[in-house]
Amino acid sequence: MRIRVKDIPEEGYDAAVDVPLTKGRTSMEGRLRGTINLRVMADEAEVVAAAGAIVEAKSTCSRCLEEFDNGFKIDVVLACVPISELEAEVEGKQLSGDELDIYFYEDGILDINRMMEEQVILNIPMQTMCSSECRGLCPACGANLNIGPCTCVKLPVDDRFHVLKDFMKKTVSNNKSKGA
Ligand SMILES: [Zn+2]
Ligand SMILES: [Zn+2]
Repeated sequence: MRIRVKDIPEEGYDAAVDVPLTKGRTSMEGRLRGTINLRVMADEAEVVAAAGAIVEAKSTCSRCLEEFDNGFKIDVVLACVPISELEAEVEGKQLSGDELDIYFYEDGILDINRMMEEQVILNIPMQTMCSSECRGLCPACGANLNIGPCTCVKLPVDDRFHVLKDFMKKTVSNNKSKGA
């Protein structure tokens, strides 16, 4: 959706947003749905965009490799300013929308989808696991241990490995306490 700043009425403009998300552009696949309100400021170049949207997305759990729901909300107020003002700021002029996040637009046109994609990228949750309690896959048979225990016979623990494990643990905790 592209909106010409000159076409935004004085009383503001409300629109529905529906943006398909692709891995290539936002590093996550899914859909963003919501609404946006556009209001032109007194200088007729700056537009305040208030958007509320829900991102429906799925991610693959890094531990059990199952897809999980990784949706999130976006509530944002952006100051949209012409990209020419960015150049002006470089020359020492201050932008008015200091306290707001800024979206730069070109040729008098707001590219709403692009704007929302930027917000998705900025707000992607860091969560890479379906849950912090994910049990992952059995290293022997590959069964998803969240579903239940697998039928693998538990291998007897070799004492030599035990010693090595303890040693590793100590090394790790030593390094942590050093703040490395
Ligand atoms: Zn998982
Ligand atoms: Zn197994």
